[in-house]
Amino acid sequence: MAQDGVTHYVRYAHQGRHLYGILEGDTIKELGGDLFSSPEETGATVALSDVRLLAPSEPSKVIAIGLNYHSHLKGRPAPEQLGVFSMFPTSIIGPDDEIVIPSDTESVHYEGELVVVIGEKAKNISAAEVPDHIFGVTAGNDVSERNWQRDDLQWFRAKGSDTFAPLGPVLVTGLDYNDLMIETRLNGEVRQHESSADLIFSIDEIVSQVSRYVTLLPGDVIYTGTPGTTADMKAGDTVEIEIAGIGVLRNKVVRGSDA
Ligand code: MG
Repeated sequence: MAQDGVTHYVRYAHQGRHLYGILEGDTIKELGGDLFSSPEETGATVALSDVRLLAPSEPSKVIAIGLNYHSHLKGRPAPEQLGVFSMFPTSIIGPDDEIVIPSDTESVHYEGELVVVIGEKAKNISAAEVPDHIFGVTAGNDVSERNWQRDDLQWFRAKGSDTFAPLGPVLVTGLDYNDLMIETRLNGEVRQHESSADLIFSIDEIVSQVSRYVTLLPGDVIYTGTPGTTADMKAGDTVEIEIAGIGVLRNKVVRGSDA
């Protein structure tokens, strides 16, 4: 798995502890210290099959971009300004966790997306400075309730409900994030398939613009937009987001109970 400059980081639960490690093949090398400043290998290793993978970041902020692929506009004009919205750290779930659809919803869609993870504090940085402030990339699913998205004052629950931001499985450094193939499958059937090369606002533009208004901290995540067409998910479905060089983020859908 060791390509030049490419490293696969995972966060995982093992024997009651939550840890970061480097994934090489089927083995995880445990890391100590802070992933974003001074990670050091402890010398301990564990088999991937003996751990439960967690979302690979614990961000202070979850930011997302809307309408960022021409293929997703469906006749709407291309945005002149970056369309930014927020989710919550509590929206995030990890690989194989369940997406819980609230019982009072009617139309919950998947949105496969490339997700950027910030590595260095960024405030008011230029696009040229962005690569030095990005730690790596992972896969995400910007789960969206379309009726709430249309009717509510803000996208607080349409996008920010608990479990609506699956993330993972691996946080990868050293990839060319400007050209990664993103594929979404619902119950094994391909539904979205497009490269991040088609982003309307590039990742460097996105991070620069967001940093004008909000200080980005190590671990913060930005969902960069979804390509193509999305559709309803229902209880029992399995949704997979696969990104080249990152792997498959797989989550099952369940229906929440009434309050
Ligand atoms: Mg989205």
